[in-house]
Parts: sequence; structure tokens; C-alpha cells
Amino acid sequence: MDVVELIERKRDGGRLTGDEIRWLIRAYSDDHVPAYQMAAMAMAIYLQGLSVDELGVWTEAMMHSGDVLDLSSNPLPKVDKHSTGGVGDKVSIPLAPMVAACGVAVPMVSGRGLGHTGGTLDKLETIPGFTTTLDPDAFVRVLCATNLVMAGQSETLVPADRRLYALRDVTGTVSSIPLISSSIMSKKLAEDIDALVLDVKVGNGAFMTTLEEATTLARTMLAIGEAHGTAVSAFLTDMSQPLGREVGNANEVRESIDVLRGSGPADLTEIVYALGAEMLTLAGVAADEIEARERLHRTVADGSALELFASVVEAQGGDPAAVLDPTLLPRAVHRHTITASVDGVVTGAHARRIGVGAMRLGAGRSRLEDIIDPGVGITVLAKVGDTVSVGDPLALVAWNDQDRLDACLSQLDAAWEFGDSCVPPPLIHDVLRTPRPASASR
Ligand code: URA
Repeated sequence: MDVVELIERKRDGGRLTGDEIRWLIRAYSDDHVPAYQMAAMAMAIYLQGLSVDELGVWTEAMMHSGDVLDLSSNPLPKVDKHSTGGVGDKVSIPLAPMVAACGVAVPMVSGRGLGHTGGTLDKLETIPGFTTTLDPDAFVRVLCATNLVMAGQSETLVPADRRLYALRDVTGTVSSIPLISSSIMSKKLAEDIDALVLDVKVGNGAFMTTLEEATTLARTMLAIGEAHGTAVSAFLTDMSQPLGREVGNANEVRESIDVLRGSGPADLTEIVYALGAEMLTLAGVAADEIEARERLHRTVADGSALELFASVVEAQGGDPAAVLDPTLLPRAVHRHTITASVDGVVTGAHARRIGVGAMRLGAGRSRLEDIIDPGVGITVLAKVGDTVSVGDPLALVAWNDQDRLDACLSQLDAAWEFGDSCVPPPLIHDVLRTPRPASASR
């Protein structure tokens, strides 16, 4: 096939056939199409989009660029959750063990933080010894032993996405709805799951800053799930301020453990219960949301979710003592308090600025090869709707390096806004679902 002709056709708004798309992804994976041509195609798609049919074939072709997991050795229903990424978004860490403790297998393939958003893998790796690098056999072994596994994308799972994502990252083509949705859904569908719950973040700290864009992204991913026969629900959740109070890595694991002990912050806890209830009903292990929430609550009250989390940590090489005693997790040496310079009501705690601040502090990376400092982070003490007086603490910064602290503070200085009154934004803006019978999964 003539790649240049395919690029030109897409550039001019034309359509690619299924055979052309399958050939292109295979040839790119096999090094027969060079990165510069795929970059041109990504830009053409960024500008012209993909039709529903093109997107379905593109996603399937990406999914089949490597191995598709076979999880049939675990007989339980399998449900995963995926977030489009945010600041302080540690939802997966308490959610997954709570859902697994209710009798649902959760094969979770997570990502790393990039830019101002954090990544579940970086957070989990602050637990001494914990590895997120598992080959497919080890992945299945942990899932069968504990009903939960939390790992990174292996070399063989959707390798085309690994390449294409890195290419998009350096060619200004990340924030394209067809490219984001096919990237996420190809990895999720390759996990052999029965159902999927998506947490589509919306606000200044998210990829999608408006509800309209987030709704389009959610609908696009739902359409891919529906075409594939996988039940998908998408929660559009607020990311205009950080979720919970902790932004960083080890501090986010500590806050996740608080949720598993029943003492987490209200906003984070509510998102965990809302998404968890959806996972249980999709899996068919709870008849409705009320029953699902009761079951999730029981796993916290009887300690079974925390116990299951400790088992997964141990199964993945980590020290379970750090789950039972989170003071064993890394902590930065120094503390700096940011205080209010006016009296008033907090009208904004800008998620993106706080996320960039945490990244500059060393909690995140601006390039994939950057090394994370696991103990640094920001504790957000004033959230939208709180009333503060001059001198009240807005945030506590845990830091190790003076230059990094200065870089962080230059972001945080403008992160809070004040006014006379404020109604906090809703935690959940909307929920969209693929059509399905009430408790069906596939
Ligand atoms: N997360 C992904 O996995 N892919 C994207 O393209 C964006 C976010």
C-alpha cells in the first residue's frame, strides 16, 4: 500500500478502509512504516478525525497488535476501571481492593504520571518492594491468587499504542478524541474484561477541560465498547480542584489507605463508592446501587478490603507491613506551609497549577525518563467552599530540594482564588452507559 496516499486522503478529509487501517497499524508495529509517516497520519487524524467505522477498526487493530490476555482461569466476572487522569486521583488504589473483596476479579492495567497528572503505578511503587512490571503469566497468577492485580502495560499488550502514544506525546497529537479513545479502549479491551467503568475527568486539571469535550470523549469510548460487546459506563467527574487532599505519590497511598480504613476525605470516598457500586452492578454481584454500596461498605468495616490490598502488595513483591502501618512509606524531610493573604471563601483551588506544582517538586515527570521523588507532595488544606482568614494554611508542601520547592511555589502562589461565596462544583457531572439489560455484563 502507498502510505503517502493514505496520509493525503486522511489529510483531505477522506476515509480509510478497514484493510488499509489494519495494514497501517501492522506495518507501523513491524517497523515497515517509519515514525515520521505515522506522525503525519496522527496529525491528519487530529485535524480530520475518524468516522465511527474507522475508529472501530483502528481500535481493534491496535488491540490485536500484541497479545490479548486470557483470564479464563479466574472464573469470577472481570471488571476494570480506567481514569483519563487528574490531580490527586488515587481512586484506583482503594477502589480495586474494595471491589475485589466483593467477589469481582479486577485485572487493572494502569499508567504512569506524565505532565501535571499523577499515575497509579508511580504511587504504588512507593510501597517498598512493590513491582508493577509483571509478565502475562505473573499477571494471571496474581489475579487468580488475590482476585486483583495492579500492573503496568507489559511489552506485549497493545505494543502499537506504546509506540504511538510516545510519538503523539512529541508531535502535539495527544489531545485528539479518536486517538485518546482508541488508545484507552484498545488497552482495556485487550484485558479480556466483561465490563469497564471509565472515570472521565473534566476541568482545568484534566485532558478535557469542558463538559462538552468530556461528554464527546465518553460517548466515543462507549461506542467502541458497544461495538465490541463490552458493557461500559462513563462517569464524568470533576477535576477543577484536586481530589481528596493529597497530591504526590506516597502521601496519596496513605490517603488511599485512609479510605480503606473508613477515614478518607468525603469527596474521594464518594467517588470510590460511586464507581465501585457501578462495577459491582455491572459484574452482576449486586442487584442495584444500594446493595452495591452496602457491600462495599462492609469490606471497609470488616477490614477485608485492607487485608486484600496487603495480599496484593505481598503477591507483587511489596512489603504488606507498609499497608498496615503507612508511616513506613517514604516521607520528604522538610515542610513549607502556604497561607492565605486575604479573608474570604475559597472559590478555586486550581487543579492544574497544583498538579504542575507537584510535578516541579519532583512528584511527577515532564519527560518519561524523569525520576520521581516518592516522598514529596502537597497536602491541600483549603478546598472550594472553605472559609479562610488571613494566615490560615492553604497547603502544606513536603519537600526535599530547595530549587524544586521554589519552582513548585511559583505555581502554588496563584493556585487559590477567593470571593464572598461559592457553591462547590458537583463531584459527578454526568453518567453515561452503553445500552444493556439491568445486570448483564457482556
Ligand atoms: N491515556 C491513554 O492511555 N491514552 C491517551 O491517549 C490518553 C490518556
